[in-house]
Amino acid sequence: MNEKIGKVLIIGFGPGSFDHITQRAREAIEECEVILGYTTYVDLIRGLLREEQTVIQAGMTEEVGRAQEAVRQAKKGKTVGVISSGDAGVYGMAGLVYEVLMEQGWTEKEGIGVEVIPGISAINSCASLLGAPIMHDSCTISLSDHLTPWELIAKRVEAAGQADFVIALYNPKSGRRTRQIEETQRILLKYRSPDTPVGLVKSAYRDRQTVIITDLAHMLDHEIGMLTTVIIGNNSTRLYDGKMITPRGYQRKYTLNAEKQKLAPHQRLREENEPWALHSVVPEQKPSSVSSWDLAEEALSRLHGTSPDPSPLADAGFVQEAIFEFAVSPGVANKKLSAQQMLVLAEIVGEEGSMEYTPHHQILVSVPTTNPEQITQKLTEAGLLVQPIGDVVTIKACDFCDGEKTDSIPYAERIQELLGGLNVPKEMKIGFNGCGMACYGAVTEDIGIVFRKGKFDLFLGAKSIGRNAHVGQPVAEGIEPAEIVGLLERIVQKYKEEGHPNERFHKFFKRIKEIEGFEHRDAPVQVLVDAVCGD
Ligand code: SF4
Repeated sequence: MNEKIGKVLIIGFGPGSFDHITQRAREAIEECEVILGYTTYVDLIRGLLREEQTVIQAGMTEEVGRAQEAVRQAKKGKTVGVISSGDAGVYGMAGLVYEVLMEQGWTEKEGIGVEVIPGISAINSCASLLGAPIMHDSCTISLSDHLTPWELIAKRVEAAGQADFVIALYNPKSGRRTRQIEETQRILLKYRSPDTPVGLVKSAYRDRQTVIITDLAHMLDHEIGMLTTVIIGNNSTRLYDGKMITPRGYQRKYTLNAEKQKLAPHQRLREENEPWALHSVVPEQKPSSVSSWDLAEEALSRLHGTSPDPSPLADAGFVQEAIFEFAVSPGVANKKLSAQQMLVLAEIVGEEGSMEYTPHHQILVSVPTTNPEQITQKLTEAGLLVQPIGDVVTIKACDFCDGEKTDSIPYAERIQELLGGLNVPKEMKIGFNGCGMACYGAVTEDIGIVFRKGKFDLFLGAKSIGRNAHVGQPVAEGIEPAEIVGLLERIVQKYKEEGHPNERFHKFFKRIKEIEGFEHRDAPVQVLVDAVCGD
């Protein structure tokens, strides 16, 4: 009678090169008396097999048979290896072996032994060849409809696109299955710019490896097959020196955006506030708490030969210089800069910074600094309004007839206080004009507010650029002053929470059809004529 209890080792051996197989996976392969695998996978690890091992190879579609055979052999007391490329738990064999065992009423306590040995999945191996595209929230989606209905896959693509995940597509295309990748591209173009970086990696870390970086609009111009993994960037992913990089958000620490979020700049990236940031501590360097960020800095300084040995981090006292970008203006209603304010600004910008005057009543400033808080403080003390830039709310008020029409100014200032700089899906301008003349064009902004006869008129969803530009839809007249700020807050909040990334407010209004009881109406169809210039 055979007393030996067999076991199944479900082994993920990574992308395929021996350099990327884990030590445990190597040991597990060595341990096995029987190895079961798809023929191509067996060929990839053949150099690690021993002559006396029994190798059972099978075709690609025979996974169920392989899992059943593995369990059968283990029940005979054998140590059986079921091999998968990548990670056995990611579209691999692990789940199937467990399903077979569940069918048989297996329990860990009384049944055969089972061990799942992790490997490097394609999302990781391909990302490493592309740069650093999955630095932020990401997901994997298999486009194979062999076991999953296409409707469900499409729904997942839609959701991932909407939620701005970096997406790794597994099994994107095969000889007969070509439609899914085209449909996926179509869905994602609803949520992402055509120039969103896309990486195509075929046979990562194998002999015929190819790496292509393209964009969402042109990804189908390249060869994509069953051995390709497609990694599609999110709205932050950038190309730099031939690499795909998704910034994690460190820049926020040095921009004003942080001031408008829950945490003040000096509170960001602390473990207690942002536990997802890198805080790992090098054990032997405790208690000085050197983080992964510190180590990355040290690596760079050593590379540049600027690291002072033997204490490279100078007790973690290094300084980090970053580009600080912000918008500055004399105020919400005030449009006049004093000479003193100009001097303060000039001193801050210095030789290395830059200033750009914009049509939005602001000067955009970009300046390298290690101390953005100090800059903000100096400008604020000089009486200037400092605001974040990017996808935030900007209040564009008129000058209230050089400050003479004062009645509505407190409302404009209150709106600035509450909403100015708030992060939203796409940059949003709120035009605020102090009388019915509306001479500063409030009605051409995303939201327009016009003070008239002691009350407010509201316009929503203007499109200020493009050949089909149009003014905002007049949705209400005579709004009581006590109501305007709260109403505006609710509208902006809804856009913030429910707008898709990069979705402009006019598109959002059109999509949701109704906001705060105001129903969307399409703008009148424009008569298009040949443009004098431009496309
Ligand atoms: S919109 Fe009215 S209040 Fe504002 S600057 Fe023009 S005329 Fe003056």
